[in-house]
This record gives sequence, C-alpha cells and structure tokens, in this order.
Amino acid sequence: MPASGQTLLLKNADLIVTMDEQRREIKKGSIFIKDNIIVAVGDAIDLPQTADRVIDLKGHIVIPGLINTHHHMYQSLTRAVPDAQNGELFTWLTTLYPMWERLTPDMMKVATKTSMAELMLSGCTTSSDHQYVYPNGIKLDHSIEAAQEMGMRFHACRGSMSVGKNQGGLPPNSIVENEKAILTDTQRVIETFHDASRGSMLRIVVAPCSPFSVSEQLMRDSAKLAREYGVSLHTHLAENNNDIEYSKKMYNKTPAQYVEDLEWVGHDVWHAHCVKLDDYGMKLFARTGTGVAHCPCSNMRLGSGIAPVRHMLDAGMHVGLGVDGSASNDSSDMIGEVRQALLLQRVGFGPDALSAREALEIATLGGAKNLNRDDIGALAPGMMADLAVFRLDSIGLAGANHDLVAALVFCNPGNVAYNIINGRIVVEEGRVTTADVPLIVEQHNIMARKLATA
Ligand code: ZN
Repeated sequence: MPASGQTLLLKNADLIVTMDEQRREIKKGSIFIKDNIIVAVGDAIDLPQTADRVIDLKGHIVIPGLINTHHHMYQSLTRAVPDAQNGELFTWLTTLYPMWERLTPDMMKVATKTSMAELMLSGCTTSSDHQYVYPNGIKLDHSIEAAQEMGMRFHACRGSMSVGKNQGGLPPNSIVENEKAILTDTQRVIETFHDASRGSMLRIVVAPCSPFSVSEQLMRDSAKLAREYGVSLHTHLAENNNDIEYSKKMYNKTPAQYVEDLEWVGHDVWHAHCVKLDDYGMKLFARTGTGVAHCPCSNMRLGSGIAPVRHMLDAGMHVGLGVDGSASNDSSDMIGEVRQALLLQRVGFGPDALSAREALEIATLGGAKNLNRDDIGALAPGMMADLAVFRLDSIGLAGANHDLVAALVFCNPGNVAYNIINGRIVVEEGRVTTADVPLIVEQHNIMARKLATA
C-alpha cells in the first residue's frame, strides 16, 4: 500500500480488546489509523476527533483480526461429501483424493475466494493456506491471485505430496509430484512472491503435506531450502492414532522424534493438529519455540481426539488456531472456531481448562507467533491495522452484556460488521467490499457439482 497519509478514525467503540502487552480492554475507546498502521489506541476523549474517514462504533466491540494458521481452501468444493462424512482421517483422505484430482486452476481461484470471504466475515484478517494438490496445471499462483483480489493478508504454503501408494504412502500415485519438481517450484514461488518486510501482505511457506505423503529426504531438503531463504515451515503432525502408528512403523520414531531428527523445530516452524503430541514433544516444542495450529472442529469431525492445548500452554508452547480444510470442518468460521477451542478443552480437561480470553489470545497473538510475526495479533501503536468489529445488538449476544469479551466467545456473535485488513475496509456494514459474494457462491456451487459428477 503506498503511503498516502490517509487517516481513519474508529470512534467510541463500547469495548476495544487490544491483546497488547498489558492486555488492555478499553471501554469507550477509539483507534486512529494512518495508511495501514495503527497510530493510537485509547480512550475516545484522548484521541483525535477527526480523520479523513470516521466510523462511529457505538454499540460495537473491536478485537484484533483473527489469524487462521491452518486451512486447505480448495476443500470448500468438497464439503459434506456423502462418502466422506463418517470416516477417520485416512479413510476420509482416500475417499476425497480422487475428487481433488479433478481440480482446475479456475476452481482453485474461486474456492480460495469463497473461503476467504467466509473467513473475513467471521473476523479473520490473516490466513495461511496449505495447498498440496497440483493437478491439471494448478499453481500456488492461483491461490495468491485470489488472496490479492480479496485483500487478505496471506501466508501461502507450497504444500506437496511425493510418496504415492506404490511407495507405501497414502495418496494415489496419480496425484503425487516428483520431488525435484516440488523443490524447483517451491524455490520459484519464494523468489517470485515472498515478501519478508514488516507489514507484509504475502509470505511463502515451505510445506510438504505430512509425514505419510512425502519422503524423509523431501522433509530435509524442504527445511534446508526454507532456511536458505528465511521462510517458515509447516506440515501436519501427530493428527491421530493411525498417524502415530505410521510414524513408528516407517521411521521407528514418534512424530516428535521424527521432526527433531529432521530439524523441523524452531520459531520458524509450526505443525497442524498435534492431537497426539507426547510429553517429550511438548517439552521439545516449548524449548525450541515450535508452534502448533490447533484445529478443534476438524479434530472432532474426524474423531481424531482432543489436542492437549491446556498442557501445551502450561508447557510454554506457542499455540495458534486453524479452521483446517473445509472438507473436515466444514466451515471457515474463525470466531466459531475460538468457541470450539474453548469448549473442546473443557470436554477433555475440565470446565476451567480454557477461558474465553485465553481462547481469543490463541486466535490472535498465538496465530502471530505461529506465523513468526510481531506486527499483527494486537491493537497497539505501530502494529498493522488489522481488526474485526462485531455489533453488540445482534440476537446471538442478547443478554450477554455482563462481560463482552466472554460474550463474543461463549455466544454466537454472527458475522462481523467491519473487517479491516492493512488499513483497508474489506467488510463494511456486514458486506464484503472486495468481491461479489453471491456471484462467487454461484460459481462455486456449479464447480462443486462438476467435481461430484465428473
Ligand atoms: Zn490440514
């Protein structure tokens, strides 16, 4: 965004949840933004009273934009597929692989836009997308184009699968790629798109899909490549019991031992799920600053188990939140995922296992740590202007005005009124400003039908 000096004042919000160092919650607060950066956050009377654009937020609550650290956006085309409704991870995957084999570049673009629109309406301002299927000429470039059109802050993960069925892996041979081609294309997208600067709207992540779909060598080569360029690493890990068994059978190691051996630990690495991460893994991850993307809906949907998030936090680990792919959630509702994170910890570890404020912190500051960023996740001077605004007069929040922060997590606040990303209003009065959502949904539905019947 060119620095044009444009100012935006968000005025008189009933509550601003800052997630700053003091965890301030400011009643009757304002936020003053210049271009894409927050200049001031505080009591409305202490802040400037005018700006180029002023939005009165009386009757609203403001939170830092939610950060989604695990997704497969193309999967919005295969939601609630009949044969994939009731299986565990490996059965679910083998049912869906043949459908994903028929994806096209146009489908990838429309599905990414659909997922992003849904994410934005649920308060998400930054998302990663773990894209690991490349049939029919699909490139990571297609997801990136979609993110740029939507105006979403994006961490595009160049995923990959290289070990097909005939080599003992899970995916069909027809959907896996050659390892040399994977590394060459990963290097290409880093060199073409990765922006390491503060406030970056686009970063590339090196992200082989999972230990059961790529070789040990590709994991090692990926880590080497990522570190040469200073980009992050991401994969799936320790998702369910079958995943653990595979690791023990193939490598004679637990998932934690496997990634330690591969040097897939550090502040530049975050792993999705870790439902079955053991004590050794928790200590290892805490010591090395390795992050985890907790995906409660997907873990419930596939019956994978309950990730020990309470223990992870107590061990000092970085935990962020992810909605996971739209075929195992089956939605991209970030504020809803915050609620599910809170509820699922309580099922596993008791009613005080996770508070509303802790759940919200995972989805903001926790997400920023996963993505190795210090410029998003909180509302404070110098941070990027990414924030979500919810109405307080919605039916879902009626009667919950005793504690507005808890209300947002325990109740159903519905879609955002405003979503601001990098100082740009991408949702205004409940409508996405960067895309024609009804048109995208129509295209998306036609494509989903095509995938089902091809
Ligand atoms: Zn996933």
